[in-house]
Amino acid sequence: MVWCMSSCDSTSDGPPARASLPEASAPCADPGIGLYLHIPFCKTKCHYCDFNAYAGLGAWHARYVAALRREIALAGERYGPLAMRTLFFGGGTPSLLPPEAIAALIGDARRHHGVRPGAEVTLEANPATVELAGLRALRAAGVNRLSFGVQSLRPHGLRALGRDHSAAEAVASYEQARAAGFENVNLDFIYGWPGQTLADWDADLDAMLALRPEHLSLYALTVEQGTPLARLVAQGRVRPADDDLCADMYERAAERLAAAGYRHYEISNWARPAAPGGPALACEHNLVYWRNEPYLGLGCGAHSCFGGRRFWNVLSPQEYVCRVEQGLPVAAGGEALTPALALAEEVMLRLRLDEGLDFVAVAARHGADPRAVYGPALAELAALGLLDLDAAGARLTLRGRLLSNAVFVRLLPAA
Ligand code: SF4
Repeated sequence: MVWCMSSCDSTSDGPPARASLPEASAPCADPGIGLYLHIPFCKTKCHYCDFNAYAGLGAWHARYVAALRREIALAGERYGPLAMRTLFFGGGTPSLLPPEAIAALIGDARRHHGVRPGAEVTLEANPATVELAGLRALRAAGVNRLSFGVQSLRPHGLRALGRDHSAAEAVASYEQARAAGFENVNLDFIYGWPGQTLADWDADLDAMLALRPEHLSLYALTVEQGTPLARLVAQGRVRPADDDLCADMYERAAERLAAAGYRHYEISNWARPAAPGGPALACEHNLVYWRNEPYLGLGCGAHSCFGGRRFWNVLSPQEYVCRVEQGLPVAAGGEALTPALALAEEVMLRLRLDEGLDFVAVAARHGADPRAVYGPALAELAALGLLDLDAAGARLTLRGRLLSNAVFVRLLPAA
């Protein structure tokens, strides 16, 4: 039985623990879920990273995988089989785990949750953590999409970001993925790193386009508090690119990727068709998030939005493992969204996508027309050139994409 798991629009007060999630009450057309499995291990920690990822925990890998397998099974018992429309191994560096561990986790997800035919199964990988035989084993296990954290193919860019692989290793890993049969590959790049010039970025664009991946995610560097990069910036030892240069880099990327046949579909994401005239290979899993559809996150620090509630697990891998081994709940917190916040989140998430905000669809989902709630703000943003607004909906302009945080701030409900 598949139950209706609408997005986080519940209005009831709710307990934080996952164990006390309510049962959904009515069957509906099968929406499927996005299933996220968090793998928190990395070889080294990059200068800029504030993700829930840790170096030096090799001794915990096997126990962590066993705990994650247990959590997958428990989620199956608790919720019944969920139609899995996407599966995403994120991290961290999931490619640090042996392929047999990934195969076991995919098998568990299939066994306990069911999987839709053709479901996208993505694994995040770092260059120099994979080799051909392992990639073939991952492909045979059912991984059909790889996402490589390349970040730059400029040697001084990799140094500035504290990456532990070379440009040559990144290209070699990508070519091995192709040789192993992967036909859907994403490459992540970062722009705005300290010392980067527009010529550096052009060289990175040349290199990424020469590889012809199906998908590209391009992110502006953000200096996160508490990272080694933040300390270097505070000490005046490095200076990231300024906002104007980052805007120039974004616009340059938008022009060059469009000319190369890539379709922009989310603020930082582009995809190209696998075959001429076919659909662009957008990341189906991330579309689940951006379309505000249900997802379940398992593993330390993983977040879920499911069964009318949002909730998350303990951050620490060690605490997560120990809790699972002792039969204790792994949920660290949760919340129900007010109708106003649920509407605001849907509006902001959908505006990230080029398909934009459809007023009628959002009104049907939330019982509140975004025009009634946000009419003045939307009109102001359109007057500022940040939104294209018409009778049916709204979409960010290129300028709006560059200033998306300023757009979203205006759409937050009053506290
Ligand atoms: S590889 Fe990714 S997750 Fe790991 S430290 Fe670097 S940026 Fe963070």
